[in-house]
Amino acid sequence: MITPGLKDVPTEVDVVVVGLGITGAGVALDAATRGLSVLAVDAHDLAFGTSRWSSKLVHGGLRYLATGQVGVAHESALERGILMDVTAPHLTRAMPMIVPFNSSVSGMQAAITRGGMLAGDLLRRSAGTSPDTLPKPRHLSATEALTLAPSLRSAGLRGAMLGWDGQLEDDARLVTTVARTAAAYGAQVRTRARVLSATGTSVELRDELTGAVTTVAARAVVNATGVWAGDLVDEVGLRPSRGTHLVLRESAVPGLQVAVFAPVPGETNRFVLVLPQPDGTLYVGLTDVPADGPVPDVPEPTEQEIGFLLDVVAAAFTRPLHRSDVVGAFAGLRPLLDVATEDERSEETADISRKHAVLTSASGVVTIVGGKLTTYRRMAEDAVDAALAGAGIEAGPCRTASLPLAGAASRDVLAGLEQDPRLVRRFGIDADLVLTSAVEATGLSEDELLAPVTDGIPVTLAELVFGVTHEGAHDVGDLLDRRTRVGLVPADRALAVPAAERALALTAGART
Ligand SMILES: Cc1cc2nc3c(=O)[nH]c(=O)nc-3n(C[C@H](O)[C@H](O)[C@H](O)COP(=O)(O)OP(=O)(O)OC[C@H]3O[C@@H](n4cnc5c(N)ncnc54)[C@H](O)[C@@H]3O)c2cc1C
Repeated sequence: MITPGLKDVPTEVDVVVVGLGITGAGVALDAATRGLSVLAVDAHDLAFGTSRWSSKLVHGGLRYLATGQVGVAHESALERGILMDVTAPHLTRAMPMIVPFNSSVSGMQAAITRGGMLAGDLLRRSAGTSPDTLPKPRHLSATEALTLAPSLRSAGLRGAMLGWDGQLEDDARLVTTVARTAAAYGAQVRTRARVLSATGTSVELRDELTGAVTTVAARAVVNATGVWAGDLVDEVGLRPSRGTHLVLRESAVPGLQVAVFAPVPGETNRFVLVLPQPDGTLYVGLTDVPADGPVPDVPEPTEQEIGFLLDVVAAAFTRPLHRSDVVGAFAGLRPLLDVATEDERSEETADISRKHAVLTSASGVVTIVGGKLTTYRRMAEDAVDAALAGAGIEAGPCRTASLPLAGAASRDVLAGLEQDPRLVRRFGIDADLVLTSAVEATGLSEDELLAPVTDGIPVTLAELVFGVTHEGAHDVGDLLDRRTRVGLVPADRALAVPAAERALALTAGART
């Protein structure tokens, strides 16, 4: 069960995990599947932090190759393959992407892009990921490029490279699914539970619903609080950088069938990504701006970042884009480890290593920080290995590389499912469970539960109800901003609030 608050929490466990972003959820699953008793908590909700503000990609690690970090690139490609083929085929898909060669891209830059995509394909091969999962890149003529992206500016277009990477259905859904899988293996997963202080053998927790403070003893404590990691462990220094995305309706860039890397005019090898989403929106990102100072609960994009992204996209496509085309914007903070030297400090944050780090504090708290959504499984494995070694705990080996997440099945099986396509995309073979348990909890008909909650918003009452009964959602924000992502467009969110309130009212009995 995933439960808000700390009612009936155990007073002693093997492992306490602090933070339920992708990293903490992954640690909880890793530890639980090694046979350990686990308490995993978040001060707010599942995926409250950086994990819901990503580009929602499963990266193959190409950009690390470009900076010579071959090990990180290979690890990323391996983990991408595990997610797409084994643990989460239901939550991932192959994303075609093109880099147009227009007048702002020199012949040399085009050659570098071609070489980069071929190197990315080598990474795929070295990770053992089949071309059925991620096809090989190829050159496109200008006509072919315009078929896939009809509103690209055609003047000066010489052609394009077509490549493939992984795309997530939704980052917060991945976190929720990992947390639900951990709970199914026995982890106690609690939201609205803030850790006030931690040592290697205990945490002091506050129930954010009641204000009650309690202490839980543990054999190991893992700090997976991302950009907040330094608040719990003094020895950890972070230097966050902000990444902003815009949300546009798909009509803003008509007919787009692929992601487009829009070159930033006047810069070499820098792009803004235009990423089509399955719900009729496009994300446009992203920026990389140092974000010093206190860490906010919810980072805000600046008008300058919004203007920059809009200008780059407008330069690549024919339809004029205006500020009014931006129906949403979101920003996340990358939990980058602070680097030691002044020389390194003066560099752009984009160049700081994205590799994850496992750090054990003097009191024995194991902090896992850095990395990315794509590599969460490996990060969790490393953190649990360090925690077990540090505390002298005997446990089974890591099992997560071959352990399907809740709802996972092969792509063939998923393609043959006859359930509601949106539920299949978000819950895989658990689509049936979502619907039958929503019928059971509410007594409503399947038709009513599967209808879009309002015109133009594809979210269903079934998934909102399931969010409460099976995924620990406690309020409207949990349902609209994390169990579903309608909150990324504020105008749509306002329209969906009554449906979320209805789901909460219908399940009031299940929540007490
Ligand atoms: C703009 C942007 C785009 C990105 N795009 C991608 C991408 O496309 N693909 C990819 O693989 N990676 C991407 N990343 C990287 C990835 O999103 C992050 O590395 C990852 O989400 C970090 O997850 P986390 O669990 O470590 O931290 P978080 O998700 O921030 O989780 C930390 C959690 O700890 C909780 N917490 C904090 N303090 C306490 C406390 N005292 N007690 C209890 N709980 C606490 C918070 O509420 C929060 O939920 C992107 C990052 C950014 C910023």
